[in-house]
Amino acid sequence: MISKKIRQKLKIEDYKSIINNINGEIAKYNNITIVSHYNPDGDAIGSVLALYLILKKINKNVKVIIPNDMPDFLKWMEGSNEIKIYDNEPEICDDIVHTTELFIAVDFNALDRLNDMGEKIMLTKVSKVLIDHHPNPEDFGNLTLSNTKVSSAAELVYEIIDSSKNIDLIDKTIAECIYAGIMTDTVQFRHNMSARTFEILSYLNKKDIDINEINDRIFDSFSKTRMSLLGYALNKKLTLIEEYSTAIISLTKKELKKYNFKTGDSEGFVNYPLSIKGVKLSALFIERENEIKISLRSKGKLKANEIVVKYFNGGGHEKAAGGKSYDTMKNTIKKFINLLPEYKNDLEE
Ligand code: 5GP
Ligand code: MN
Repeated sequence: MISKKIRQKLKIEDYKSIINNINGEIAKYNNITIVSHYNPDGDAIGSVLALYLILKKINKNVKVIIPNDMPDFLKWMEGSNEIKIYDNEPEICDDIVHTTELFIAVDFNALDRLNDMGEKIMLTKVSKVLIDHHPNPEDFGNLTLSNTKVSSAAELVYEIIDSSKNIDLIDKTIAECIYAGIMTDTVQFRHNMSARTFEILSYLNKKDIDINEINDRIFDSFSKTRMSLLGYALNKKLTLIEEYSTAIISLTKKELKKYNFKTGDSEGFVNYPLSIKGVKLSALFIERENEIKISLRSKGKLKANEIVVKYFNGGGHEKAAGGKSYDTMKNTIKKFINLLPEYKNDLEE
């Protein structure tokens, strides 16, 4: 087990040796299950499918399980219709969990992001590998590749494939998955882009992927009601708290129902208020069945993940983080507004 401290200061040699160890672990087993987080985003689906498709090509008996369904705008990726959804088929997923020899967890760092699945997987005695890019990973794998400097989990999956003998197995469909993961997690190549990320994109580009087509499928595939919900959210539900350079949007269950809300429909909404001059923090509150889902995006010095870790049972990156509240919408927003003075200095920078 690699200690947290060491992980955070990964030297390049350690990084390479962990990647090699992961490939060694994959080589040892035939029955492999890849899992990713609740409400999967483009990076979750892109990274698990890239790994899934590669492992299939080398004749592994590989499966993918996610806790709940993915948004329609990700369902074009090769293999997406083969993903098992725990909410829909718990018995089939339990059978897979019990026959798995190696679990590979991708794009999350806290077990509760798997819901009930997390505990079931932890109760198995088999090998577990974590591949992630969020800070402060929990210690639930035998082997953890945690690098917060990379653009996405998809980039880490690329590195794993690159360091194995299988790089030539990356075909157009696998390249599309990795590209989609990088594109979505960097908010269209705005954040966490390194020289290495550009190198990888250049490699993927040679696989004849259709960038315009991927862009269309992910970003230009709004339903009319989703677009109307965005309009409503920005027009009627956005509050600016100028003193703290903060914008808030909240959407209740009733409002979502009115706009025929489907999983993924509010994806990206939280980014818009950051385009208002001076706004340093944007918060989106979405009422779900048993909780309020909170998304934060920040600019400048403010670390959004510190707020959700401290106050809202959450986690994530410095500039993109999320959490949840089990209180009412009104109280949750009140709590959020009341904590802003604590971050005033960072919001002023
Ligand atoms: P989003 O706002 O898009 O749901 O999430 C932004 C980031 O925060 C993602 O990197 C995601 O992994 C993380 N995140 C969102 N919700 C949670 C949560 O409930 N717990 C933890 N630990 N991380 C979260
Ligand atoms: Mn990610």
